[in-house]
Amino acid sequence: MALIVQKFGGTSVGDIERIRNVARRVVATKEEGNQVVVCVSAMAGETNNLDALAREMCGEAHPEPREFDALVSTGEQKTIALLAMAIKLLGHEARSFTGAQMGMKTDSSHTRARIQSIDSEGLRSHLDRGSICVIAGFQGVDSEGSITTLGRGGSDTSAVAVAAALEADVCEIYTDVDGVYTADPRVAEHARKLDRISFEEMLELASLGAKVLQTRSVKFAMRYGVPIHVRSSFGSDEGTWMVPEEDVMERLVVSGVTCNVNEAKIRVSNVPDQPGIAVRLFTPLGEAGIVVDMIVQNFASDGTTDMTFTVPRSDFSRALDIAMKVGEELQSALVEGDDAIAKVSIVGLGMKDHAGVATKMFQVLADENINIQMIGTSEIKISVVIEEDSADAAVRALHAALVDDAASG
Ligand code: ADP
Ligand code: ASP
Ligand code: MG
Repeated sequence: MALIVQKFGGTSVGDIERIRNVARRVVATKEEGNQVVVCVSAMAGETNNLDALAREMCGEAHPEPREFDALVSTGEQKTIALLAMAIKLLGHEARSFTGAQMGMKTDSSHTRARIQSIDSEGLRSHLDRGSICVIAGFQGVDSEGSITTLGRGGSDTSAVAVAAALEADVCEIYTDVDGVYTADPRVAEHARKLDRISFEEMLELASLGAKVLQTRSVKFAMRYGVPIHVRSSFGSDEGTWMVPEEDVMERLVVSGVTCNVNEAKIRVSNVPDQPGIAVRLFTPLGEAGIVVDMIVQNFASDGTTDMTFTVPRSDFSRALDIAMKVGEELQSALVEGDDAIAKVSIVGLGMKDHAGVATKMFQVLADENINIQMIGTSEIKISVVIEEDSADAAVRALHAALVDDAASG
């Protein structure tokens, strides 16, 4: 008998008929002789609606994080109850669990809490009694008993973490596409489904903007060796398996093109080219909890240099205020911000041993007349920052030249 964790995203539970469809799938898995834990998101659009309500209430002020989490976590509470009802109507035992009820303990960083432990005994005893456990994604509870949430897309992480805690045989991520593609299929029409992808590539794709899996869920899967199968809620075909690098048969040079439009860029120019400047700039940003992503420092001339970095768009105005303050202290510095940017990246294990991929990427963008503002690289990825309006065109052109052409040529 296998233990299977199945996670269904917002579109998959978007209305009552879809919840019934999920119930049928879950019951079919159970009737094949498996133990089943099913983790659900809020119904499509629900988390956004709850978020909008909080903003309507608070106006310019930021909603208080504890109360914000208490509000946005209710979306998942609705779906667990409805799904448990639907499963029971099909004649099977089911029980819903909120984050607190299933012992999903997190730290207290509201809206982006980290999982600390899962007390899986409760789930296990219900599974052993033959019940299907229906658990709320996205939410946990801190040591004070306050409800926390794990960040947007966090239900993926809930599912993988529970699969790790229960040592499940597989964690199936059911979504509105039938697997992980070489680019977002809604942007690049020639994107194709990958049968397998390495954990490393998936981690890069997720953290660079492919929202099909939340980044932290991939980290959990890597750390605990949880087999992940991303597949469609609406069909029965095999999707994409996440596997160790050595098990990827088809080693593509570029296996994915992805895009992130949730960042903003800040440039601090005319700063003295001397030790200690970067520390003065980045220390207060770090203290404010702002995570800086790419950093580029230009070659110095006339004893001054400039530094450009990116931050999450949601932190843009705070980060700009901090950079302005540091700029004033440094007197000569000029601070500018731009939040209409996109970071477009190519990812692939094969880049490790193929030269010339970067040049090809830059050529493709040049041919499209897209200006590159920043460049960042690592062993298996190259990212460029460009203007936001060109993002989709860049993804399509890069996919055509680096994935499609490579496959046919
Ligand atoms: P869910 O609600 O099921 O969690 P999400 O909307 O979070 O689903 O993630 C699925 C979406 O991710 C797809 O609809 C697709 O548009 C997008 N996506 C972005 N990049 C990729 C990719 N490389 N492969 C598959 N889907 C991708
Ligand atoms: N409902 C949450 C969100 O929309 C969590 C999730 O769907 O994974 O971000
Ligand atoms: Mg998601």
